Amino acid sequence: MSDTKREIEGQPGDTPGGAAERPVGGVAMGKMADGPLSDTPGTAVGAGGAPAAEPGARLLEVNNIEVIYNHVILVLKGVSLHVKEGGITALLGGNGAGKTTTLKAVSNLLRSERGEVTKGSIHYRGARVQGLDPAEMVKRGVIQVMEGRHCFEHLTVEENLLTGAYTRRDGGAKIAEDLELVYSYFPRLKERRKSQAGYTSGGEQQMTAIGRALMSRPETILLDEPSMGLAPQLVEEIFGIVKSLNENEGVSFLLAEQNTNVALRFAHYGYILESGRVVMDGPAAQLRENPDVKEFYLGVSDEGRKSFRDVRSYRRRKRWLS
Ligand code: ATP
Repeated sequence: MSDTKREIEGQPGDTPGGAAERPVGGVAMGKMADGPLSDTPGTAVGAGGAPAAEPGARLLEVNNIEVIYNHVILVLKGVSLHVKEGGITALLGGNGAGKTTTLKAVSNLLRSERGEVTKGSIHYRGARVQGLDPAEMVKRGVIQVMEGRHCFEHLTVEENLLTGAYTRRDGGAKIAEDLELVYSYFPRLKERRKSQAGYTSGGEQQMTAIGRALMSRPETILLDEPSMGLAPQLVEEIFGIVKSLNENEGVSFLLAEQNTNVALRFAHYGYILESGRVVMDGPAAQLRENPDVKEFYLGVSDEGRKSFRDVRSYRRRKRWLS
């Protein structure tokens, strides 16, 4: 672990404050309406089809945050992470590790849960964003896709997608153009566009939730557990679309996932959370090869397959900290 951490802290292109040089105010997926870019960062492909390195400057910087719910329940105990422009960053960990809380701290959705960031700081494009209204975060280009899909069940798929554009002031033609772009990434949604969202499949609802977020023309999507409850083939399909959106539209992702295997195949960089702390981080390709990650999160060790549940947590802790 310490090796991985050391390498990460000194990775090339990791210029602290790099984001501060960039203008504030979301470009918010400006590429969408203009069509796919050919010079989009993040297209370098390494072994196994995964991107070789995390590209770009830091967009989002979470620095040593502590989150407390209901004034007493300490859930995040000093989490630091960053998301680079044009990157897919995975936030991994088991049930209750604090992944959703981290995403909500960034999108400022904690307040509705009686949660509060009590220490540390969060910067987006160099500007402190703690305490901003969630709608202001959307304006700056950061939107969260909540765990569990959260569609408006009584609206059609298309109406759901259009709700994502309600803050936009750039006119119906641009919105119609982006709707077509969303359909080009999610052809299933085009087929089901007149169906009531509540009657569509789990996979289609997940696609609708991502598509709705895209309609706000985001620069960064905070995507919470997209694989939850979906069949493996659909999970692959959805992650494949996330990868295309990243590569072709330049959307950056912070992706919370329990499914370490699939997340590390598609992400550039990963953080592993346990009990509200980052216990390991590194380029996804390195994490995939790390013996502890293999054993505890991918269920594979030198002795053969193992269930994460079979490993007593004190032993894991000893290994993480050694
Ligand atoms: P999961 O994949 O199960 O959602 P997670 O890693 O996303 O897990 P969180 O949902 O962030 O974890 O939860 C972290 C801890 O915070 C858990 O112990 C959870 O019980 C607690 N928690 C989450 N939301 C609240 C809340 N609104 N009030 C009090 N405690 C909460």
